[in-house]
Parts: sequence; structure tokens; C-alpha cells
Amino acid sequence: MRRPRFCAELPIPLPPVFGGGFGLGGGSGPAGTFINFQGSCGDSSKITTDYSVTLAGCWTDARISDVETAFSLVDGRTSLAFVDIFAGLTFGFDPNVDYGITRGSTLVEWNATQIAASSSQDFQEAVVHELGHVLENRTSHLQDSMFNTARGRAVDGSLSTNVRVPSRDRVATMAAIGRGEDETKETIADYFMFWVYQAFKQDTLGLAAQVYMEGGLIIHDRNLPRTNPDAYPFVVSKDETGLAQGLLAAVVVARIGDTAVIIDSPGINYWLSNASP
Ligand SMILES: [Zn+2]
Repeated sequence: MRRPRFCAELPIPLPPVFGGGFGLGGGSGPAGTFINFQGSCGDSSKITTDYSVTLAGCWTDARISDVETAFSLVDGRTSLAFVDIFAGLTFGFDPNVDYGITRGSTLVEWNATQIAASSSQDFQEAVVHELGHVLENRTSHLQDSMFNTARGRAVDGSLSTNVRVPSRDRVATMAAIGRGEDETKETIADYFMFWVYQAFKQDTLGLAAQVYMEGGLIIHDRNLPRTNPDAYPFVVSKDETGLAQGLLAAVVVARIGDTAVIIDSPGINYWLSNASP
């Protein structure tokens, strides 16, 4: 049972609870599969017109429809119009890619054989996940980027070397998860996907993850693993911040001591409006 792989360089083992019976099926098709469906290339000009994204190569009607569904979902969730964030993007093919991979801020490449063997739902989720990578790459120039925020800031002002937001395999009701080798990048792309699908669990870890995406304050004890709810003893959403919450946060930080990390997230709307297509 293989899991959907979005930008897989190295497989990450998942806890048994995620061991669903869906995925890419019994393996990739024969080498000739891609050639076989080149005869039924669909018309993707509507994607270009509506979203300013180019689908390069031969795309089937079914996959064009999936791309449109995924883009529409993202467009409906984001504060900016889709084109204001993702214009200029190209979706292409590369047979050496394991499912899909984002290259920089303008190109996502897919394995045609693997996406042809994939369910619509899996592929749509993968599209949203890769858009998360694109967004992250388009905001990487910002000082207060998603990347730095996800690492968390200690009381002395230093940033953690690794991502400190809750572990991405514990925060959402979705089974899908990215497989790239950079944990911070995968976390950000998965969090973006979970946010688009409004799939955050309404428990301690899920709510901390949701606050990271929507804005607010998360106090984290880096002595504890990112899978442990006790590692996130205080969370307040941006809408609820005030003097009392600030004082409470200070008390929590003082109790944790040197291992306290503060994740002060401006939220996805900030990152979106600071993206540069
Ligand atoms: Zn990824």
C-alpha cells in the first residue's frame, strides 16, 4: 500500500492510523503508458485564461479537470485572487520525478504515468500541496517568512534550527502527506494543503497548527517532541490577542524557561499578500 507522494525524494514512515487502502495502486504502469494517452490530449486553454497557469505537454481531460478543481478550491480560500499569487506558473512533466515536485517558484513537474494511475482526490490534494511549495518559494525573500516563523523564536531572540510547529502527520484529518526530504518545506506545504481543505483536527496539536496558518501566538516547549500535545501549552488566535492573553503567554514562557519557543505567526493572509508572482 503506497501512499500518495507529492515531492518524494525520501519516503517517511507514517503511523499506522494513516495506513489507508488508497494511493497509487500496485505500481507505475509500463513505460509506454505515457505515449498511449498522448493521443487524447485535452484542451487546457481555460486553465491558462482563468488562472494564468500553463499546462505544458499532453494533459488528459480528466487531469485538466482535476487541476481546475484544485485551483478553484485554493481560489475560494485565499484572500487574494489565485492569479495574484500564482500567475506565471507552469505545470510540466518529467518521467524521473517521483509523483510531483516543485522547482523554484515557477515550475511544478509531474510524473505522467504516476498521476495517470492516481485517483482524482489524490492528485487534487497533490496539486494543492505543490502550490504550498510554490507559495513558500515565492515568499522566501521575506524576513518574516513562513519558514522562519515555523522554526520558532526563543526568548533570547534566536531562531530554532528546525521547524517547531506541531508534527504535520498529527494535525489533520487528511491521510495525504508530502514526502520531500526537507521537513520544514514539507511542513509548510502540508499545512497549506490542510488549511485549503480546512482539515485541521480540533485538538491541541491541530489547533496549534491552525493558529500557525491563520495567525496568532503559539508557545512551544522544545524539550518535548512535536507530536506531544503538552509541547504546546498555550495558543491564542490573532483575533483573540489582548493584554490578558499577552500576560498569560508571558507566564507560560517563564514557567517553561530556556526551552520555550514563541511562534508568533502573522498568518496565511499576510504571507499571501506578500507573495510576488
Ligand atoms: Zn512536498
